Amino acid sequence: MFDCAIIGGGPAGLSAALVLGRARRSVALFDEGKPRNRVALASHGFLTRDGASPAEIRKIAHDELAAYPSVSVRESRVEEVVREADGSFRLTDAAGESWRAARLLLATGLKELLPEIPGLRELYGRSLFCCAYCDGWEMRDRPLALVAGNDHTFHLAKTVFNWSKDLLICTNGYDSLEPEQERALRERGIRIDHRPIERLVGEDGQLSAVRFADGEEIARAGGIVAERLRQAAPFAERLGCAMTPYGGIEIDGAGRTSVPGVYAAGDAACIMPAQLVVAAAEGSRAAIGINEDMTDEAFA
Ligand SMILES: Cc1cc2nc3c(=O)[nH]c(=O)nc-3n(C[C@H](O)[C@H](O)[C@H](O)COP(=O)(O)OP(=O)(O)OC[C@H]3O[C@@H](n4cnc5c(N)ncnc54)[C@H](O)[C@@H]3O)c2cc1C
Repeated sequence: MFDCAIIGGGPAGLSAALVLGRARRSVALFDEGKPRNRVALASHGFLTRDGASPAEIRKIAHDELAAYPSVSVRESRVEEVVREADGSFRLTDAAGESWRAARLLLATGLKELLPEIPGLRELYGRSLFCCAYCDGWEMRDRPLALVAGNDHTFHLAKTVFNWSKDLLICTNGYDSLEPEQERALRERGIRIDHRPIERLVGEDGQLSAVRFADGEEIARAGGIVAERLRQAAPFAERLGCAMTPYGGIEIDGAGRTSVPGVYAAGDAACIMPAQLVVAAAEGSRAAIGINEDMTDEAFA
């Protein structure tokens, strides 16, 4: 019986494991190793690690965790979580092995659904990104494409404009812009193209042009693609945790969900802003919540 099982070994789960390990709690952390940012060569905006690769940050975190003997990290995918009659949790992994824990932390992150456009996957994480705060600085003042993929094109265009004034919005079937929004964007010199995209053209990960269905190409040197997000794992919904209107797991200030003993941290709960440093901070906060609740229980 572990004090806490953590599902997810991204910054949220790893940070929670560190804080719980230091609080002398026994922790089993399960991670199948598919973090959202794995396609990126470099991560930005994490103070002291600006520009480090996701793999490098992960390795440092694992090395730090190795100093805490009560933390065990398992590279496996959790398939099932059951809440037992005594309030503890039974987890079963893909190999059929099972574990029990008094508390459960969901740090499973999100999965993104990208628009299905030929060429996009080869460029994603190299010169086409989903977040201006993460990668806008590297693309500043370049001719950029904003590839629509959800209903937030106006918001995204206003944000990306901060990094480059040479902006081409490709709605590609996502026509969420109101006429007055289109006007406000065009007034600032932002181009809006409603033609379907045939392909994103580029080599070695570098976008060079957007090719439209009529064959015309417009040169671009980078871009932002709007994705749709969903939970990477089904456990919150299966356990009956309340969800936010944005599809995140609802938590209080200590990471507690609506189900006793279940906590959540990172992208899976907060959705936006999706940032490594925010996820790590949330993991720390949930770990403190878990430790405080267990301590109170021991003295009750
Ligand atoms: C292309 C891209 C680039 C980005 N660049 C930046 C950047 O430069 N700077 C920045 O701050 N943020 C960046 N982000 C955002 C950042 O990656 C996320 O905010 C952050 O990774 C969230 O951390 P997390 O711990 O909540 O989830 P994740 O990092 O996604 O980790 C969740 C982990 O849970 C595991 N998991 C899920 N289900 C299971 C299961 N059933 N069993 C076992 N394990 C499971 C996953 O495999 C994964 O390893 C980027 C995102 C993308 C997509």
